[in-house]
Order: sequence, then C-alpha cells, then structure tokens
Amino acid sequence: MKLSWKQGLSVWAATSCSLLIAAWLNYYLSDNGFIKEPNQTYDYIVVGAGTSGCVLAAKLAGSNSKVLVIEAGGEPPWYSWVPLIAPILQGSQHYDWRFRTVPQKFAAGALHGNQAFWPQGKMVGGSGQMNFLIHTTGSPGDYDSWKVPGWDSQTMKNTLDDLTCWTKGNPKPKPFASRPSFLLDDEPEMCSAPVLTEIENSTSCSENVQHNQCPSAAIKLQRVNATEKPLLKAFLDAGRACGHSVSDMDRWSDTGSFMASHNTIEGLAGHRWSTYQSHLMPAMKRHNNLHVLTKSSVTKLVWKRKKVIGIQYLDNDGRIKHVKANREVLLSAGTIKTTQILQLSGVGPPHVLEPLDIPIKADLPVGENLQDHLQVPLFVELNSSVSMNVIKMLNPRQFWNYLVHGKGALATSGIEGIATLTKTRENGKSSKPYGMLILFNMGSINADVYTSVANIKKEAFHRWFPKSNNLSQEGFVLISVCLHPRSRGHVRVVSNDPTQPPEIDPAYLNHDYDVQCSIDTIKQGVELLNTEAFRALGAKLHWPTFPECGGKQGSDNQRYMECLVRTAALTMYHPAGTATMGHEDNPDAVVDPELRVRGVKGLRVVDASVLPRLPSGPPNSVLIAIAERAADLILKKD
Ligand SMILES: Cc1cc2nc3c(=O)[nH]c(=O)nc-3n(C[C@H](O)[C@H](O)[C@H](O)COP(=O)(O)OP(=O)(O)OC[C@H]3O[C@@H](n4cnc5c(N)ncnc54)[C@H](O)[C@@H]3O)c2cc1C
Repeated sequence: MKLSWKQGLSVWAATSCSLLIAAWLNYYLSDNGFIKEPNQTYDYIVVGAGTSGCVLAAKLAGSNSKVLVIEAGGEPPWYSWVPLIAPILQGSQHYDWRFRTVPQKFAAGALHGNQAFWPQGKMVGGSGQMNFLIHTTGSPGDYDSWKVPGWDSQTMKNTLDDLTCWTKGNPKPKPFASRPSFLLDDEPEMCSAPVLTEIENSTSCSENVQHNQCPSAAIKLQRVNATEKPLLKAFLDAGRACGHSVSDMDRWSDTGSFMASHNTIEGLAGHRWSTYQSHLMPAMKRHNNLHVLTKSSVTKLVWKRKKVIGIQYLDNDGRIKHVKANREVLLSAGTIKTTQILQLSGVGPPHVLEPLDIPIKADLPVGENLQDHLQVPLFVELNSSVSMNVIKMLNPRQFWNYLVHGKGALATSGIEGIATLTKTRENGKSSKPYGMLILFNMGSINADVYTSVANIKKEAFHRWFPKSNNLSQEGFVLISVCLHPRSRGHVRVVSNDPTQPPEIDPAYLNHDYDVQCSIDTIKQGVELLNTEAFRALGAKLHWPTFPECGGKQGSDNQRYMECLVRTAALTMYHPAGTATMGHEDNPDAVVDPELRVRGVKGLRVVDASVLPRLPSGPPNSVLIAIAERAADLILKKD
C-alpha cells in the first residue's frame, strides 16, 4: 500500500516523537548499579535477571548479604518500556533467545517445518521485559492441586495480596469482601454492572488510587476502562448476554468470569512495569552490596562433591571465568536455560547425560514435564471505528499524548478483555477454569512481521488474516487459550557446548484433551459474536480457509475445528515445569517445597521451571509471588 502525503507526514512525526520518547525514557530510567568485573566471592549468586531473578536479588540484597546477579543479555532497549511497541523485540538477535521447537507431529501445521518459534527475553528484565503485560493470579484450585506443602492457595493469595499495589492508606488488604481492589482508574460502568457478590461489597470504584502511592516493590496495575473502550464494553456485554458473570480481575475464585484486563503498566508515565523496574532498579540504587553483571552467560555450576560452590561463565569477550558463592547459587535463567545449565552440570536423567559423557551429580527428571499454553488467534472484522490499527497508531496525536501524558494507544498492550471459562459439573458446582478468551484490540496485522517472528507460512497467514494488508482495517483478534493442557514434552541438551540450544519438544496437542479444550474455548468465543453487543459493531468472524481443513468452515464441523486447532495453534510463550517442585516423596519432583534441588547442597531453582502445572492464566505475576516467597524461605535459613 502506497502512503499518501498525510501518512508520510505521520510517519515523519512518529519518528521524531519516537526519538523524543527515547531521550526521555533514557533520562527517566538511567541508573548506574552495573559492574564490569565481579568480586571473587558473593553470598548469593542469582543466575538470570528476568521476572524471577530481579525479585529474588532485590530481596536478598535487602538482607545485607553480598549478592551477584549475572545476566546473559544487556540492558533493555528504550522501546521495551513502551507497552504497545514492545512485541517488536521478538526475533531480535540482541534481546531474544530465539528458541525453536523440534517439528511438531500433531500441531503447528501453519508453521514452516511444523516448528514453533519461542521468543524468550535475553536482557535485564528477561521475558517480563518483552511480554504482553497481562496480570492474572491463577485460581485457588490451581495451587491446591499442586499438593506441594507451603504452596497452597491461601499462602499464594496472601503473597499476591501483599505484593499488589492497593489503595492509599490501605497497603495490607483486608479480607476480600470488605477491601478495595487494586483499581487504578475509576470505572463506574463496572460498578453498575451485575457482578459477583464478592465485588458488590467492594468500595473499589469510590477509591481514587494514585500510582505514586504504591511502594516500589509492588505489582502496579492499570485496568482497561470500559467507559473509554467501546470494544471492551461490547465484550463484557456479550459475556453477560451469554450468561457469564462479569467481575473484577481482583477476585479469588475458581468460577469463570468476564473482566477488563489489568495490565502491569505504570499509570502515570504509561510505561512497562517489569520486575527490573519494580524490584531490581530501586534495589540497585539502595544497596551497594548488590552487583549486576550483564552480557555474561553462565555455562556450568562449580561443585565440591555434592555441593554447588559457584558458577562458571563466559564473559562478553568469550573468556571463561568463575565466581564463588558462600551460601547458595539460585538458578532463575528461565525454563529453557535453567534446564540446560542443570543438565550440563550433571543434574538430570542418565539417558540425557550419559550420551554426552556428562558425569552425573544427581539423577533427577530435569527437563521432563515441559508444558506451554497454546493460543488460537482468530480475526474478527468490524464495520465501526472502535478498534486500533496502524493508521490510527501513526497519528502524531498518539505520540504527543503518550509523551506528555503517558496515555493513549502506546500506553496500552492492546489486551483489553479477559474471560475465564468454567463448566458446570453434574453436582451443580463449577469446574476450575478450562479456557481463556482474550480480546486483543488490533485491526491490522503486519504480515511480514508476524510471519517472520512466529514462523508462519505466508500463504497460511493470508488465509488466516485475509485483510492484513489494509492498514486502516477495523477489527480485533479473539484469542482462545486452553488453560490446563495435558500434553507434556521435554527440554534436553544434545551438545556439551553451552552456546548450542537444547532440544525443545513441547509435544503440542499430543493429548486429545488439549484439542477438545481449545475447540470448546473457541466455541464460547464464537457465541459472543452473535450477541447484540457485537452485531451492533458489525462483527464478522473470519474462519481461516486452510485447504487441509476442508471446505466447510465453522464451529459445527468437528473435523474442521480439530484441523483448525492443529494448524493454527501458536505458543502463548509460557514454557514451564522442567524442574518441577514437589513433595519429598514425589519421584517427579526436581526441587523440594523450599525449591532446593534434591540431593544437592547450595542450589535452588526459582523461575517458571518449578511450576508443577501452569496456572489458569499467564504466569508472570504468579512467578513474582513465587520469587518473593522463595527469598523469604532462603532468608529464614540464614
Ligand atoms: C512474548 C511474551 C509474551 C508474554 N506475555 C505474558 C503476559 O502478558 N502475561 C504474563 O503473565 N506472562 C507473559 N509471558 C510469560 C512471562 O513473561 C514469563 O513466564 C516470565 O517472564 C518467565 O520468568 P522467568 O523468571 O522464569 O524467566 P525470564 O523472565 O525469561 O528470565 C530469565 C533470564 O535469565 C537470563 N539467562 C538465561 N540463561 C542465562 C545464562 N546462562 N546466564 C545468565 N543469564 C541467563 C535470560 O537472559 C533472562 O533475562 C510472556 C512471555 C513472552 C516471551
């Protein structure tokens, strides 16, 4: 599509504004707690400055211990702070590990070689510096079903409550029914809506919460406001019309509900609120016993018999170096790299380590139990001007609004609405949420960018998103997610070279449950589009016309639906489970309930790999809570 002079002017203005934003963010976020050369010894070494590592390091440094954080990537680029444009980090040579799976037998039909691309953050802030900022807390049943002592729903709720920024003068939440929720924008629309009983008693809408009243080490949230977002309003109205409840995200319940999304965005400046910002940055300013070494990649653990006493790493010039830990090494390198470091250090199953002649230090099922959420994104065309698209985004007013007020499209992640879906059992009680619907407000999708970062075949993409060439297209992407997949895969080292990626096989859709669960979720989404709320906006779902799925598209054709899921399901970017926590006598457990690696001294794992099962939603805030609790467990021992 050729740009008109007006659009050309917009692009020019957009570029100028971007440079201004860059300069401003650089000023706003600058700090100087980074080191070039570490000391020889620290009390704790935290491997990886991602979502979990930043929290852990900040808390440990607060105890006056000497802490080293070692991170393979560098500092994040300025644009990673701007919520809407952060996804362009995906596929970056500098900031993304760019993992890819082995060819999938039962899934990924629309992808070249049936291989899924897995972006994972490689920078300070980790994947939390490139994610879509959705905040969810899972549901109580998630934690109780783990059956790991100390990680029950009540403990997780308390930890999440303590972490979340609440209201002025009320930092410690009262019991659910009487306390205000963590609203940051008032929203009368939601108050007058029929909502669950818990929220009816809440004073949330009358409280005026200011971001600057939040303590720094808190999860700050911004709730998308349905009074300003007609598309979100339609989503909530449609949910209600289909018999679902509409409530606030701040609800601790296994019952499904439709909600305005809460996103981890700093509301005053409108920038990403990752754990780099919330935890590590303030801790670096406050504690000179906290050192952060970047562009240094840990390759192995250093042992003294069965005790880990330090790490080996490659510095930025490729030189091998070592640092000692007096107390513990804490692996927070994310599911893939934590697994690789453990296996290369001799912690893993013999069938993986022996072929590479790696001496076994602990025979544990490291790398098994790999799981991920899968999403099926479908495009819904609209004939009303209620959505975001490229042309609207390039309007200089958007940039001005962002720069001056921290508001507008750039200050959002595009994720506006979330719905968790439950089924009613025979006994009348509802099940744990099985599916999630996500409203992603974006009418135009750039084919070149999307196909290259997700490895999608061009032809499949055009059958999937046929209007993607139109930069002023109105519409949105309706994302369906199966929340508790049963397929399990693995991560395994296949080379002694730490710079070579391990084999990643999520075994997507190996289990038939996952296919049916995805189909059921999509069907619930399709029902919404037939309501008056969406009809009024001219909503029209585009069923992808993949040739392998036959000629009769639609949710009443089971064959088509199964084929659609097996062709169009993509990673939701939540790999987890490869160093699962568990009870002492659970043979599948790699770490004990205090996250210590079993049979090894001086070593814990604190990141997404310890999740026994994924929670009912994106896991970032859950991982923050786990890292907070892990720090308490570690410090209790001192
Ligand atoms: C594109 C994307 C979108 C997402 N969207 C959401 C969302 O909207 N909401 C949500 O809740 N979750 C989301 N997630 C998931 C969430 O961000 C992750 O689950 C979470 O960040 C994982 O945290 P972690 O601590 O396990 O690992 P990470 O945050 O990935 O941190 C690992 C860190 O370790 C470093 N590292 C790795 N190897 C080494 C080594 N050898 N030496 C030194 N350092 C090393 C890495 O560079 C990285 O900085 C998304 C993830 C992605 C990738």
